[in-house]
Amino acid sequence: MPMFVDHSPPGQCIFCRLVAGEIPSAKVYEDALTIAFMDIGQVNPGHVLVATKRHAVTLLDITPEEAGAVLQTAQRMARAVQAAFDPPGMTLFQANGPVGGQTVFHFHLHVLPRHEDDGMALAWPRKEPGAAVLQDHAARLRAALPAD
Ligand code: 5GP
Ligand code: ZN
Repeated sequence: MPMFVDHSPPGQCIFCRLVAGEIPSAKVYEDALTIAFMDIGQVNPGHVLVATKRHAVTLLDITPEEAGAVLQTAQRMARAVQAAFDPPGMTLFQANGPVGGQTVFHFHLHVLPRHEDDGMALAWPRKEPGAAVLQDHAARLRAALPAD
């Protein structure tokens, strides 16, 4: 995870300033709702961030229209990354909150080209609690689904 953490207030955060053109970026694409630019850290060559233009902190704070637009832009970027850098794999990564690994608190999605032994690691500690627990968790989520 990056060492830098942006605690700026909404509207003044680093990505709001980047969207406004107040700080430089290597921009790849923009449309009405989203912007895509090179991640300054470049975990691998071609590492792109897709952000909402509007300041929103996490996945829970963006609108359904923004969510759809972000994934469409991510697919455009993934196709461009595949054509330009030809990585053998690609990972989409999106962090919510400090515990989730978020360091810039303006919604964004990483489009990350992947290579064998590239040092990226995300532990995946499987619990396999069994069918009854899965059914219970699913029932809790069905009861919590937003009505729309
Ligand atoms: P997160 O950890 O929140 O998922 O990702 C934040 C990302 O923003 C990091 O990968 C970091 O390299 C990138 N980043 C931080 N500051 C800047 C900046 O000023 N410009 C660009 N292009 N990327 C940045
Ligand atoms: Zn912002």
